[in-house]
Amino acid sequence: MDTKAFTRALKKSENYNRKGFGHAEEVANVMQSTYQSNLIQELRDNNYTLTRGHVTIKLAKAFGFCWGVERSVAMAYETRQHFPSERIWITYELIHNPSVNQHMRDMQIGFIPVIDGKKDFSVVENNDVVILPAFGASVQEMQILNDKNCKIVDTTCPWVSKVWNSVEKHKKKQFTSIIHGKYSHAETIATSSFADKYLIVLNMAEAEYVCNYILNGGNHDEFMAKFSRACSQGFNPDQDLAQVGIANQTTMLKTETEQIGKLFERTMMKKYGPDQLNQHYQNFNTICDATQERQDAMSGLFDQKLDLMVVIGGFNSSNTTHLQEMAIENNIPSFHIDSAERILPDNRIEHKPLGRDVEITEGWLPENKIVVGVTSGASTPDKAVEDTINKILAMKSV
Ligand code: SF4
Repeated sequence: MDTKAFTRALKKSENYNRKGFGHAEEVANVMQSTYQSNLIQELRDNNYTLTRGHVTIKLAKAFGFCWGVERSVAMAYETRQHFPSERIWITYELIHNPSVNQHMRDMQIGFIPVIDGKKDFSVVENNDVVILPAFGASVQEMQILNDKNCKIVDTTCPWVSKVWNSVEKHKKKQFTSIIHGKYSHAETIATSSFADKYLIVLNMAEAEYVCNYILNGGNHDEFMAKFSRACSQGFNPDQDLAQVGIANQTTMLKTETEQIGKLFERTMMKKYGPDQLNQHYQNFNTICDATQERQDAMSGLFDQKLDLMVVIGGFNSSNTTHLQEMAIENNIPSFHIDSAERILPDNRIEHKPLGRDVEITEGWLPENKIVVGVTSGASTPDKAVEDTINKILAMKSV
């Protein structure tokens, strides 16, 4: 499929909108009252620090709603204003945040149901309005909606589109896209739909496995078993790894994305020689600023003595999980929650340890003086951070 021609034609269609509907001002007021917080403003004005009684809160200097998410949520509100009585759908969660998604439901915006792991577009009727979320939608999904003559409101973050453009460039030169991401994540599914040949690597260990295969060969069947759900149809590691381009899920750990890019660069240089590198390796910088800033701000918190960290964000939010990973790497006890409601009476917290299911920890807040680091993922409103801080203060009887 010529994905470039399809998306170009779609963007010219009168059923397609990616600029909003001119209700930005009214929506800004609603967003302000629903998601903003006075307490967070106070923290910002006080060098991101708040001390009350025995508790000091240290807030990361970049946290919460990123530009792309804020834009996507605002466009969803605008869409409802512009189409007050039409049926409106979102192809997936608008963003990975339960309270924002609940607000969407409250506005009678439906989510395309998923049955046996597959989205069921049969609920969408001709002329319905469909919102594409911040992390985009696959070309095949856009095609289904276009065939149904739907009005498409595309809130895909421009940073994500930038990755898609890189993948288009790889395809043009018949390169295989190596995507650093999670093969089941909606953004990576969308990104891979633009590629001809692709391979998704989750982390450095998988990248090393692939690079070792490029340099030394290996067991074809073992390779295919390992990446069976993470490569394009008909992928053959013995033929399709001679020319590679790097792409990424925008919310992965930026240091890891950079390391993976460098590893492939070194590998291709070793295999083909430095003068042939451009014929075998392509990399465009597609690490999103917001992800980078939140991870840098998290590192900044580690310069101070913290007793523990609270990381707020959806449990399926990739960028939030990476913030949690950073706390663990720095040996700081860290609690990942998706809302303040997870903080329970009697000094208990219901949280999600990395790679495990949600569990309850008792006595999570130490006695006496404490310094608590707080951050939140790119899809978390300030209000959720405020509620969390207030609950911590209340638990410490402040
Ligand atoms: S994290 Fe980056 S790529 Fe993702 S929505 Fe936010 S600004 Fe866009």
